[in-house]
Amino acid sequence: MSLATSRSVLRRHATPDVDYQLTVPAIMRRSAMLFGGRPIVSRDGGAIHRYTYADMLRRAKQLAVALGDLGVRPGDRVATLASNDRRHLEGYFAVPAMGAVLHTLNVRFHARDLAHVIEHADDRVIMVDGRLLPQFQQLPIPSCVRHVIVMDNGDLPDFPDRAIAYEELLASADPDRFDYPDCDERSAAAMCYTSGTTGLPKGIVYSHRAIALQALNLLTADSIGLGQRDVVLAVVPMFHINGWCLPYAAALAGAALVLPGASLDPKSLVELVESERVTVSAGVPTVWLGVLHALAGGSLAGDISSLRALVVGGSAAPKSLVRGFQERYGVCVLQAWGMTETTSIATLCRLPPDLDEASEDVQYDVRAKQGTPAPYLEVRARSLAGLVPWDGVTMGELEVRGPTVASEYYNEPAASDRMTVDGWFRTGDVVTIDARGYVEICDRSKDLIRSGGEWIGSVALENALMGHPAVAEAAVVAVPHPKWGERPLAVVVLKAGRRASADDLRQHLAPDFAKSAESTRAAKRSPEETFFRATFELPGRSPRPRISPTGK
Ligand code: AMP
Repeated sequence: MSLATSRSVLRRHATPDVDYQLTVPAIMRRSAMLFGGRPIVSRDGGAIHRYTYADMLRRAKQLAVALGDLGVRPGDRVATLASNDRRHLEGYFAVPAMGAVLHTLNVRFHARDLAHVIEHADDRVIMVDGRLLPQFQQLPIPSCVRHVIVMDNGDLPDFPDRAIAYEELLASADPDRFDYPDCDERSAAAMCYTSGTTGLPKGIVYSHRAIALQALNLLTADSIGLGQRDVVLAVVPMFHINGWCLPYAAALAGAALVLPGASLDPKSLVELVESERVTVSAGVPTVWLGVLHALAGGSLAGDISSLRALVVGGSAAPKSLVRGFQERYGVCVLQAWGMTETTSIATLCRLPPDLDEASEDVQYDVRAKQGTPAPYLEVRARSLAGLVPWDGVTMGELEVRGPTVASEYYNEPAASDRMTVDGWFRTGDVVTIDARGYVEICDRSKDLIRSGGEWIGSVALENALMGHPAVAEAAVVAVPHPKWGERPLAVVVLKAGRRASADDLRQHLAPDFAKSAESTRAAKRSPEETFFRATFELPGRSPRPRISPTGK
């Protein structure tokens, strides 16, 4: 065989005969084939609704058929304004399955931003949770919207004119008319807008492939390790980053799915954990801090012994949360980091095996980090001096790349400065990376103080200040400085009846912080110049400045 012939044979055999596409329909087919009988539980208002994946997928097909009858074509955007419930879930599968693009609207956006993103995405149809109708009716609805579908049980007091009732729409559609379209894995399946530090929210478009890869990632052992024995309570909003892809991952794994509706208070969540024997849940730290405080403080009782893991992300999980759930309830808190731009979770923290015998303090220090990158996700961090070493100390802005990382914002060429010239996404998060590859977020670049060309973490300073016995609250911001560019300004609220001068606070910080910012490590030896301009007593106790705004 000639060299050219053997090369072409090798090439043929190196790729699958059938070019299998990683798509949302592929997830649906697997779920229907293997897990049709697994349960889905949804809190609809006060009532609990139960059905199966088979029921859900049949209704999703009905919805896809009905949307097609309304004129929705592949590539069209269909928006949802909804909380985590079964009808929203049906939209999660129906819209991408018919080749259209699911645009999950953030219910917490200001009306102005909502109207903007609906128009910017050119949404054809909006599916609105009946509960959110009053909010929706305040919006100036852009003319691109042809149909509004109200997802409700049909007992709305004032059903809006010309709106379509979801259940009636489904009843009109025969699921057997649904045919999976040929769907390119690189085509758009979903989109989501994220608010920036300035300007209007920017859109990210997710491909089928990115969603399918992220869903698969959540099944891996060093991620959440989802499987068919799991019962997943999806607390993270489905309007935020594809609900971290949990609904897709649960369907892929055959895990039972519990959707809490709009009730995210500790009592409602603990009730669901107890009644459904939930094994895994995910959400922001505030939700789980509320649960921990209520349970530990005795204001709430409930059995959460079925839980094996709580995935916490969106903002930093305090060590007290990780420790509290582990020590009181044996529940493992897995901290995760991700962004709208990363499709789902991008890093997750599990204890590395070589620390199994380490002291508890060392273990909790590691478990409070944001963790290691998901498969295929690459991380690096950059300071002004270039890429930073993986020493767990040197800070730099986190850059990521991988098949699930956005390469641009939707119709927003001006925002392309978030990409580096060699194709990495600049996250705006300032991190250290240690020798094991564990990422730890120190700050966000917009909250950082760049002093003498180096970063000073405002959060670290605030935390240290709040460690002083006289300090109730502290906020640190950057102020312009002729020599250093910026210096930190701390605004401090003292505890009632306590006294501390600016010098006391400088001394308190001296062991750990720099006088200038030549480098984080060198700075630890030269503490004098950290700035304090003003301290205040608690409101109600004469909130007058005790130190002049010039620091004198
Ligand atoms: P968003 O795109 O709205 O999801 O916001 C993403 C941002 O949330 C990240 O860039 C981080 O600043 C922050 N974030 C997400 N997860 C974490 C985490 N585990 N710890 C600290 N910050 C986080």
